[in-house]
Amino acid sequence: MYTSESTKFSTKADIGQTSRILIVEDEELIREMVVVALEEEGYEVVTTTDGRSAVEYLKSCEPNSGEESFDLVILDLMLPQINGLDICRLLRHQGNPVPILMISAKGSETDRVLGLEVGADDYLTKPFSMRELVARCRALLRRQRFSAVPQLPILKYKEVSLNPQECRVLVRGQEVNLSPKEFRLLELFMSYARRVWSREQLLDQVWGPDFVGDSKTVDVHIRWLREKLELDPSRPEYIVTVRGFGYRFG
Ligand code: CA
Repeated sequence: MYTSESTKFSTKADIGQTSRILIVEDEELIREMVVVALEEEGYEVVTTTDGRSAVEYLKSCEPNSGEESFDLVILDLMLPQINGLDICRLLRHQGNPVPILMISAKGSETDRVLGLEVGADDYLTKPFSMRELVARCRALLRRQRFSAVPQLPILKYKEVSLNPQECRVLVRGQEVNLSPKEFRLLELFMSYARRVWSREQLLDQVWGPDFVGDSKTVDVHIRWLREKLELDPSRPEYIVTVRGFGYRFG
């Protein structure tokens, strides 16, 4: 049977869900203004006022914890108990990839660089306009969305599995080395199980329409591929010759 271990994941935006933002800010006035501005944009907002509770919030929201996670953290630099830089450092050290927008009254170049160095994604100096804040948040959430590139499924048939992401092929549990053309050929075959391909079609798909050469090239590559995949290359069970037409996988 063909199986596909697809790990494609949908982002909230794909499925029309609201992004959830954590605001860590001890100054009440700024906190309230940010809340209003982001809620007006339709975001779901959670607030906290000190470093320790921010860490607790983010810990309970780690992936697979069962809690709903945050899509973005707006993090003040100067906070009671644990400061923004240390929170940022801690989160990245734990491998938490949540986008972080750091805000601070300190506007010096050093603070900005330090913030970005410890893993913040963007930095905004107080006082800032709410319009600018909203625009930065939107950009960070969008970037996060694009970085969630869908994963290609691992292709499997009997004892052969092909991982398109890692360009790796396992045959009977052992990794085999394929040339780029052999890999492309196998990937094409496995993507269209039992479909019969003529030599011309394979040339077109794998070598491209500009390839100058004859269909013997295909036969040669099929032979090499069989030697790597088949237990008995003279009686292939993976890449089968379909007389008068071409080749088929499975
Ligand atoms: Ca502060």
